[in-house]
Formats: sequence, structure tokens, C-alpha cells
Amino acid sequence: MGAPMEEPLEDLGARILACTLCRLNEGRARAVPGEGPAGAKLFLVGEAPGRHEDEQGRPFVGAAGKVLDAALERAGLGRDVFITNVVKCRPPENRKPRADEIAACRPYLVAQVRAVRPSVLVALGDTAVSGLLGASVDLAGARRTVRRFEQNPVLATYHPAAPLYNRRLTKEVEADLAPAVRIARAPPPKQSR
Ligand code: URA
Repeated sequence: MGAPMEEPLEDLGARILACTLCRLNEGRARAVPGEGPAGAKLFLVGEAPGRHEDEQGRPFVGAAGKVLDAALERAGLGRDVFITNVVKCRPPENRKPRADEIAACRPYLVAQVRAVRPSVLVALGDTAVSGLLGASVDLAGARRTVRRFEQNPVLATYHPAAPLYNRRLTKEVEADLAPAVRIARAPPPKQSR
């Protein structure tokens, strides 16, 4: 049997926009599938859309998004990355997504990773860490050790909203992103024939 066919990102996006698998669809204006090119080397995963993302249907377009954009700009990447969240719909009052909501959304995340084929994933904050790596892993642990999601290396850093409350964390986010950027920039390994 050959390798399974990946579902194209556009088809996945259409399924996410129409999704009713969990209660979060009831309060959303729009689902936010995520964005970025198939083939992006760096795949960023946040927590959940907030108000601005829900209104615009795009990930990280609010205040935290500006912090993220600045960090990516300093790393020389801009938005040439894939960005999504562990849940694709805004939770009411921006509460944290619940375990059953993260579980319902997980197949979309798996399918997005398979479609994009990144070199490295970065979990942004605690919810992304536990959503990707399991409830037993916390942010401090994930920042210390490289783990795997669907065979891909996963690094972790603070949620981009964190530096809005503690400026000192800007440097920490930058330092955490540096190894991910190095992996993303590394030339692909030579194919052995
Ligand atoms: N916070 C997130 O975790 N994701 C977004 O898309 C926006 C804010």
C-alpha cells in the first residue's frame, strides 16, 4: 500500500469553516482554519481564535498577533510560516478551550500538519503545548526538551500575549524561536537513491 493521500489545505479549510463537531461552533462568527503555504517549514500553533480572529477569519490578527509578527520579522521569516490554533473556533469570553473541544479539533491539526509537511512545529503557550503533546506536558517541560507530533519535532515558547504583560518575555520568545528558525532554514537532507 502507498502512503496515504494528504487532504489539500483548501479542502480542509472548507471542512473547518462548516464544522459542527463541538459546541464552539455555536458562538463563532467564523471558524479560523489557519493560514500559510503548504510547504511552509515552520508551523506555529496557538490556543484559539480571539475576538479579532473570529471577526476576520484569520489567525493572530489582534494584539498578540502583532507581537508574533514582530518576532517573526526579527527572525527574518515574516508570515512565510503556517499559523493555526489547537481549536479553530473562538471559545465564549475567550475562556480556555476544553479537553473535549481540543480532541474534537485534533484531526484537523493532524491533517494540516500532513498537508504542510513542516520541518518543525512551535507550540505557543501552555494550551498549545498540552493540546499538541498531551496534558502531562507543560510549557516549562516543552521548552527544555524537543518532543514529536506526527514525527515532527516540536519546540515551545510563551504565548505571544505573554510579552504584552511582561516585556522581559520578548527576549525569551526570541531565544526560543531561534532553534526553530535554524531548523526551518536548514537545507533539506539529500535524498538517498
Ligand atoms: N491567540 C491565539 O492563541 N490564537 C489566535 O489566533 C489569536 C490569539
